[in-house]
Amino acid sequence: MSVLVIADHDLGTLSPATARVVHAASQLGPIDLLVLGQDAANVATEAAKLAGVAKVLVAQGPGTSDADSQVIEKLAAGYLYVIQSAGSAGRDRMPGVAAKLDLMPVTDVVEILGPNRFVRPIYAGNALQTVTDNQPRHVLTLRASAFRAAPAGPAAPIEVLDSALDSVVKLLRSDRTQSDTADLATAQIVIGGGVALGSAENYQLLESLAKKLGAAVGATRAAVDAGYAPNDWQIGQTGKIIAPDLYIAIGISGALQHLAGIQGAKKIVAINTDAEAPLVKLADLALIGDLFEIIPQLTAELDRL
Ligand code: FAD
Repeated sequence: MSVLVIADHDLGTLSPATARVVHAASQLGPIDLLVLGQDAANVATEAAKLAGVAKVLVAQGPGTSDADSQVIEKLAAGYLYVIQSAGSAGRDRMPGVAAKLDLMPVTDVVEILGPNRFVRPIYAGNALQTVTDNQPRHVLTLRASAFRAAPAGPAAPIEVLDSALDSVVKLLRSDRTQSDTADLATAQIVIGGGVALGSAENYQLLESLAKKLGAAVGATRAAVDAGYAPNDWQIGQTGKIIAPDLYIAIGISGALQHLAGIQGAKKIVAINTDAEAPLVKLADLALIGDLFEIIPQLTAELDRL
């Protein structure tokens, strides 16, 4: 046994991030994919179809962080690598898992150079560090957006673990963002809006454009702080890290903390009234003008296609 990957899932659906982590981790060895929490059975069937997965392990439970960590810590002894995406669950639990195993985690890995050499961003993404991890075993979080997704493979066997789990944490309520646009962390096209949108209602302009392009919608922290966009749309140093093929930044100045989240974007288009804005200077293509004129025109043009 060499690699244990922890699956990310929500509402009975496997997160696209897991396919990317599986693809990246498959270069380290055959993968056992662990599905934890509630609705695990459906997710396991999806997970078993990913190329590189040798076996899917299912541990049904309350889905709380402490219960999940108990399972991971118990299983981890049998693996050289314990890996999860650097999403909210991975960031929450993997440092604790590493501490229990007396290991130092290597977080936010964006490239795997070898069995113990990993590349990760430092200084808010302004530099890349190559880490040689000489510990006997490795606990990693991977930035899913930096890797391609694993293709479909032959269905792997599914093993249900006998897991009687205690949890001191009780989930009382969860408030969910309603959105029918793509997942921000893994979308190929992302439309980001800044505080210049001026209201939550005006973000519907971006949402209708996003639907036409199959894009996800994100926002700056200034827009989130102003209450125009939900917290989980925030892109940047203290938000989500994205690496789409195309990032369309609308009414965004390009503060360093925002740029830290978009460095993996392959092409950037900026729409801004200010030709001197840092994001305009960084962009591959810039449209200088008022977003309230440009966006409706762009959406209408797409309607005509
Ligand atoms: P502004 O900087 O105010 O820019 C608005 C832009 O809109 C301007 O360029 C303006 O020319 C343009 N504009 C105005 N009207 C129009 C119009 N009608 N049409 C077109 N363009 C128009 N920020 C993040 O985004 N993510 C983070 O994770 C993050 N983390 C942070 C962490 C820390 C510790 C700190 C201190 C700050 C952080 N910030 C973060 C905040 C960051 O510093 C900026 O304040 C923020 O990114 C600015 O957001 P903005 O571009 O929407 O607003």
